[in-house]
Amino acid sequence: MEAPAGKEALSILRRLIAYSEKVFQFSRTVIAGVGDRRLEPRIPTAVIIKSVAALFWTRMGSLNALELTAHSSFFRLWLRQSVCSADSIGRVNALMDAEGLRQGIHHVYDRLKRNKALPDHGGIGIAVLDGHESHSSYLQHCAGCLERTIHTGNTDRTQFYHRQVTLLLLPAARPGCEPIRLVLDHEPQRPGEDEVATALRLVERVIGSYPRAFDLVLADALYATAPFFNFLLAHGKHALTVLKDDRRNLLQDAAGLFAGVAPLAGSFRNRQCSWWDFPDLLSWPQVNTPVRVVRSLETHSVKRQLDGKEDPLTSDWIWVTTLPIHLVSTRRAVAFGHQRWDIENHGFNELANGWHADHIYRHDPNAIECFLLIAFLAYNIFHAFYTLNLKPEIRKNRTMAFLSMLMSAEVHAGIDLAFSP
Ligand SMILES: [Zn+2]
Repeated sequence: MEAPAGKEALSILRRLIAYSEKVFQFSRTVIAGVGDRRLEPRIPTAVIIKSVAALFWTRMGSLNALELTAHSSFFRLWLRQSVCSADSIGRVNALMDAEGLRQGIHHVYDRLKRNKALPDHGGIGIAVLDGHESHSSYLQHCAGCLERTIHTGNTDRTQFYHRQVTLLLLPAARPGCEPIRLVLDHEPQRPGEDEVATALRLVERVIGSYPRAFDLVLADALYATAPFFNFLLAHGKHALTVLKDDRRNLLQDAAGLFAGVAPLAGSFRNRQCSWWDFPDLLSWPQVNTPVRVVRSLETHSVKRQLDGKEDPLTSDWIWVTTLPIHLVSTRRAVAFGHQRWDIENHGFNELANGWHADHIYRHDPNAIECFLLIAFLAYNIFHAFYTLNLKPEIRKNRTMAFLSMLMSAEVHAGIDLAFSP
């Protein structure tokens, strides 16, 4: 006899967990090596990590919401115990070993790579990085907080905030599939430090751990700096960033070329483009190689809501890169340049708005770092499960957010209201 349809819907989270155990050995390998600095731990670190992974998969958004489900039969079956208190989960995250979590993320990457789920783009592996502000507050601060002065009316107030630089791997899509994007790592920005310095620390660690995972790093205009480009060149990697007028000499020289050379006609998605592509420019001598400037002037039309007429829209993109033209054509360089937005659309927006990854679950620098790494782990495993394991008829016409509601229902359905916590 087949299970009733409702039961089927209430097993997505169990299937996700079974998948994570079967494919990644989640309990035995991914999280088994993560410890914390408690002297006499009563609750295993693994139980805390699993509870927080469930918090992200079900998108509950707060430790108090998780605590309300602590006695669900779902957790008794999975953890062999109830979820511990919100305070304990926060406290253990403040003492947790972030490097162990990073190795867990690495294990998920290794397994997917071995399973050929992370193809490159015609021989080029791509990663994108960017800084992201996770929260700000006038009231609460910790040792890891950055500070800035906000002028309002006649008063100056000190605002505290946290920023991280995050690196997202952008594999190509397998035939018939969406690509599986993996958030590999993040690095907290330290007080008094600029974002590029944080990014260099992050990239150094990521290249050390994942030497062959990517060949090209995409970033926004802030990263069009000689130290960033030279660092990547020294490690055998390429850079591609947006070019703005901060690199005045280079941009002026390129602008002279744009004016004097007829563009190539091209297209990107549904846009008509005019492309200019100038390799071997010497106008940025601080970078240890000649650079290439690519411009794409793009026109497309949008339908006006008022009268349904088409309005033409133009956007003008200029990128600077170390990618040689014989390796990457203009068309591919333009497509790579646009992929820089993937970290906004598929990374920060989804993690902050969908997964509540920006929420401060415990205001402590180590806890913030570890909660975010567990969010990355949960995100990567969920996306692999969604793309590689879930049947197309289950995915069809259903959003990931809808599936997270089903998973939340699965946890909540196991609550016995007669039991008083
Ligand atoms: Zn803080």
